[in-house]
Amino acid sequence: MAHLGTLPPALGFLVRAHTGAGAAPQGPVATRALHAEAGGALSAQVLSATVLHGPGTDPGRAWTRAGDTVVVVAGEFYNQDELRSVLPGSPACDSDAELLAALFDRYDLHAFRLVNGRFAAVVASGARLCAATDHAGSVPLYLRPAPGDIRIATEAKALAAQGSPRGPSLPETRRVPGLPGVRQVPAGTVLELAVDSADGSLHRTWEPPSARRILSEDAACRAVRGALEQAVERRLAVGTKPLVVLSGGIDSSAVAALAAAHGPLDTLSMGTDLSDEFPQAEVVARHLATDHSELVIPMDTLLRRLPYTVWAAETLDADIVEYLLPLVGLYRELPDTPRRVLTGYGADIPLAGMHREDRLPQLDTAVTHDMATFDGLNEMSPVLAAAHGHWTSHPYWDRDVLDLLVGLEAGLKRRHGRDKWVLRAAMTDLLPEETVSRPKLGVHEGSGVSVAFTRLLSDNGVPDRDIATAKTLVVRELFDRTVAEGGHPDQVSGESAIHAALRRLRQGAA
Ligand code: ATP
Ligand code: MG
Repeated sequence: MAHLGTLPPALGFLVRAHTGAGAAPQGPVATRALHAEAGGALSAQVLSATVLHGPGTDPGRAWTRAGDTVVVVAGEFYNQDELRSVLPGSPACDSDAELLAALFDRYDLHAFRLVNGRFAAVVASGARLCAATDHAGSVPLYLRPAPGDIRIATEAKALAAQGSPRGPSLPETRRVPGLPGVRQVPAGTVLELAVDSADGSLHRTWEPPSARRILSEDAACRAVRGALEQAVERRLAVGTKPLVVLSGGIDSSAVAALAAAHGPLDTLSMGTDLSDEFPQAEVVARHLATDHSELVIPMDTLLRRLPYTVWAAETLDADIVEYLLPLVGLYRELPDTPRRVLTGYGADIPLAGMHREDRLPQLDTAVTHDMATFDGLNEMSPVLAAAHGHWTSHPYWDRDVLDLLVGLEAGLKRRHGRDKWVLRAAMTDLLPEETVSRPKLGVHEGSGVSVAFTRLLSDNGVPDRDIATAKTLVVRELFDRTVAEGGHPDQVSGESAIHAALRRLRQGAA
């Protein structure tokens, strides 16, 4: 618990690297934050940045200047001590930005291969500009490159309205539908650009393991327990009571149990008038003696948060929107005081929990497929909570935990008739038996969101066979209005988006 505050020094940023005159970038963002100017003139470019930071955090810790280099970091690093240990003389490096500047000086862009964190970063050095994501791309990063004028932001909508001239297409980055000229930096990469030409190349800093490790049951459980303990501990902040969003499923219950070992803990469960997991969460909260509360959000209210969810996540994937909607609804209802929130999100991806697959070849096919396709879905975007002033962190997608879980042979993931066996077995001594053996229930199922969204479309005349397509069209419509056009979700009616999607559906059918 070394260095973290309740919030990191920056929740996000807008950056402009240019060779001519120009102001710090502005643009609409969903992140609720104060804006501070940063950057300066280097020998061959000017780096102007707007740091998005929470109340009571020092935006000066989100960036640094060293010689002809400026570094800007949103988010946080989790292996600071390790990183410091490879620097000569173990310098103080008070902030992650200072640490990254020192690492960049020593390793150049290979510095990003060393960091285990939840961050997006920009390094301007001489005439070069590097834009980097963490291994999971968990802080989404976008750019609009033009010769002599490169704009980068942690939210795509901030770049939508920027009328800079079109630049190179940078084919290794991802096109953002509806936002011509805007590209997304892939997960686990550094994009290196020459500021004057905007030409660049992409360097991969992380890839999911393809090989699978064979371990005994005991060794696998010890490894999972140890890695998860460390990931949870590294995400706690001194003097800050963490909040675990708790369903009573094994994933969030494990995180709560490991966090509770370090001190007082708040847990919070959400449900709707249709469905909840309150009894299962309460069993865990009582067992761990957490300060537990329940939050009921009426389904009508929750469905009205659909535009907010797309606005914050900037995703086009309707399944992901269903998973995120209950959490966005929950973050919105938290009191204003900033919170550090830990979740059990993402455990199912390396363990194939969602697929409920008992055949090992199919299980490993699902893991391999999901690890190859998660990028760009933005399901761990910090903006979901930062739109309400809070910070989230996801221990299962810690780089070390993820490497370990993905890389275990499939027979450790499905074993003795149990899904996610290795995780359940690793947590047996800390949780009630009924929690350890509880079958998986997705957040979209436990809250009733999937069913309610389906019913909303049925009530609007969508036949059963078209429900999935209609959900995708609604999300696309909301994306166009809140991200591409930069509309505030208060001004975007979910109903009119549904009607527009239905018109498109009928046109498609005609
Ligand atoms: P399991 O996958 O075994 O059901 P889980 O419920 O913890 O475990 P998910 O269902 O994948 O995990 O949900 C993802 C995460 O979202 C949870 O780990 C938890 O942090 C959060 N979450 C899910 N449902 C709720 C809820 N009803 N209230 C609060 N947080 C929730
Ligand atoms: Mg669940």
